[in-house]
Amino acid sequence: MAPNPSCTLMPFSELQLQLDERAAQGLLRQRRTVSGPQAPQLVLDGKPYLSFCSNDYLGLASHPQLVEALQLGAERYGVGAGAAHLVSGHFEAHEQLENELAAFVNKPAALLFSTGYMANLGAVQALTGRDDTVFADKLNHASLNDAMLLSRATVKRYPHCDMEQLAAMLMETKRGRKLICTDAVFSMDGDRAPLPELLGLCEKYDAWLLVDDAHGFGVSGAQGRGSLSFAGVQSPRIIYMATLGKAAGVSGAFVAAEQAVIDTLVNNARSYVYTTATPPALSVALLESLRLIAGGDELRCHLQSLIAQLRAALTGLPWPLMESDTAIQPLLIGENQAALALSMALRERGIWVAAIRPPTVPAGTARLRITLSAAHTASDVDRLTEALYELAQEF
Ligand SMILES: *Cc1c(COP(=O)(O)O)cnc(C)c1O
Repeated sequence: MAPNPSCTLMPFSELQLQLDERAAQGLLRQRRTVSGPQAPQLVLDGKPYLSFCSNDYLGLASHPQLVEALQLGAERYGVGAGAAHLVSGHFEAHEQLENELAAFVNKPAALLFSTGYMANLGAVQALTGRDDTVFADKLNHASLNDAMLLSRATVKRYPHCDMEQLAAMLMETKRGRKLICTDAVFSMDGDRAPLPELLGLCEKYDAWLLVDDAHGFGVSGAQGRGSLSFAGVQSPRIIYMATLGKAAGVSGAFVAAEQAVIDTLVNNARSYVYTTATPPALSVALLESLRLIAGGDELRCHLQSLIAQLRAALTGLPWPLMESDTAIQPLLIGENQAALALSMALRERGIWVAAIRPPTVPAGTARLRITLSAAHTASDVDRLTEALYELAQEF
């Protein structure tokens, strides 16, 4: 039968209409193509920029020792894992990395996932179900929000870092397992969750705490051991998750927790069971990354000095920097189009900073998400500062 043109075309013209609407609101997302490695000096669509928008906080994404480790890994294991971890895709390098990660974050066991998104989906889905309740900070990462839906648990979201509201919600929840989910460092705000208070509530109300440390691992805490070390908290109740594509500079993620939790994930986390293992060569690179992180005090020191430099320099702008002591330093603009225009004007000056708009952040809080990296220099920060002051005159 010949396809009916009105049937095949209509759905797509509707999609186009929706895309056009998005564009009119300044919300259309578009990709740019990078040539060469991730670095502050970034070539995007063929043009050089000074970039302040990667999560490569320690500048490890193109580190020569990691490149070499990846090459050695490929020589030893080839390119693909060829199967899921539970079939024939779990290699020595994965096993060794899991053991070292667990020890590094002071947990009995750890489990590798292919991405942080999948780790969150898997952990929440495997640990909670219909009779349980998941409590979540309203500013948590999208992957935790999606994870809660997938788990089919009852979802209770509390206002950002509002421990009183959370306590009230915990108190009124009588049955089932209780799991609190939080970003340790909030990805679009740069501020930190009150981990000691959260753990206190877990103890009082017999709940578990899933801490997503995508932006703390490698950067925060002694030797970059992450936000638990930074906050000085540790407990079997804490299920720790961190990503390996940000400060660690490679790819993937892990969950670290009590052995029974990890064994449950191995058996029940669908995003672990039903997916091909990450290439073992990546684990070889990550083992090297872990060494660079542990020995990376100088990198972290330099990053801290850049953060202090930026915060001191930007106090005179019409737009406030949000409260943050991490590498994520968002400049709060407000309106979508204004954030976009500012980001475009920086671009014309050869500086790349991402404008973050709803639905990634709440309406009316569009921002420039400035992220710093140990690979930046003090004069890179000066260049951004000067450009922002110039633009403040014009806007
Ligand atoms: C980036 C990020 C993730 C997802 O990690 P990927 O490895 O990129 O999939 C999860 N949680 C938070 C808070 C993140 O910032």
